[in-house]
Amino acid sequence: MSRATATMTPLLGLDAPALERWFAELGEKPFRARQVSRWLHQRFVDDPVHMTDLARSARERLAAAATIAAPAVIRDTTAADGTRKWLFDVGAGNAVESVYIPEDDRGTLCISSQAGCALDCAFCSTGRQGFNRNLTTAEIVGQLWHANRALLADGIRAPWVEQGRAPITNVVLMGMGEPLANYDNVVPALRLFLDDNAYGLSRRRVTLSTSGLVPAIDRLREACPVALAISLHAGNDPLRDRLVPINRKYPLAQLLAACLRYLDRAPRDFVTFEYVMLDGVNDTTDHAHELAALVRDIPCKFNLIPWNPFPGAAFRTSPRARILAFQKVLMDRGFVTTVRKTRGDDIDAACGQLAGRVQDRTKRHIRMRVAAAATTAH
Ligand code: SF4
Repeated sequence: MSRATATMTPLLGLDAPALERWFAELGEKPFRARQVSRWLHQRFVDDPVHMTDLARSARERLAAAATIAAPAVIRDTTAADGTRKWLFDVGAGNAVESVYIPEDDRGTLCISSQAGCALDCAFCSTGRQGFNRNLTTAEIVGQLWHANRALLADGIRAPWVEQGRAPITNVVLMGMGEPLANYDNVVPALRLFLDDNAYGLSRRRVTLSTSGLVPAIDRLREACPVALAISLHAGNDPLRDRLVPINRKYPLAQLLAACLRYLDRAPRDFVTFEYVMLDGVNDTTDHAHELAALVRDIPCKFNLIPWNPFPGAAFRTSPRARILAFQKVLMDRGFVTTVRKTRGDDIDAACGQLAGRVQDRTKRHIRMRVAAAATTAH
């Protein structure tokens, strides 16, 4: 990176107040920020020269002081079912991924918030890498910016695109990393996703998935309450302590109380509980009954996730029949319960999977295998 680049401002990382402040420092009027925001996040331009309703002098000042770029793409792969995955270079040998999932009525992008993850969930390929660093707001937003831009450049056909809307209609922070562990960079990104002068998504169409950082769930409730998903994976504390170690700090009673508080402000009237199905670990009908009893007072839906194997992991995917039996228990107890379709299997489009293959920079996988063996033994 040249010295000039190092001191330049990555514009994709500035939410509306930050962009106004930045323009004020440049000696420009605040409404310029709204104009530029629309060029950046709605027309996806990457060069101020294209911002034709700005005076030439303003465009020149922008070009001299700011950069407009997503992280560099290392790999861009499309699966037979249309699922597309980008692997981004975020420097120092680190890579993060975004996954685009096309459906008839929406286009969803799953984005990453950290390179690696410190939370060390036993079944997770990202956790296996250890924590490398938080992504900046520009790197988080850049994933959405790039996906929209690439899909438009490739001539995506979708009814809402023909009506002038962007290809990506839904965003889930469910890729690599724990978004609430990178709160200060994630919240400005969420604000840009919701901003009418940027991506203009409704709060219902933006979902943040957390493993359960209780104080940060409460902060998010005040600051920017988007739809909430919780990586639950167990219906009792001893099992969750092993699968999701952050549970030792914020056990289930605290987590579920935070969910109830969050629902006061949430854009949806339910929380989504994600539950990865691990053969012989958490997938019996007894586990399902225990889970139903645990969350009986929480308006919620369940999303059962067939676990996606990755090299060196000691878990197995639950057999389909057991997943369906588990689902039936929850449905019979009145919970809407879906089983996640496995999409993009031929490009490893599961959480953390491709980047996990690209690099394995720590010895954490050895600890993970030992922990997983202990878990499976129970
Ligand atoms: S499941 Fe989520 S929180 Fe847990 S290690 Fe993986 S990325 Fe981190």
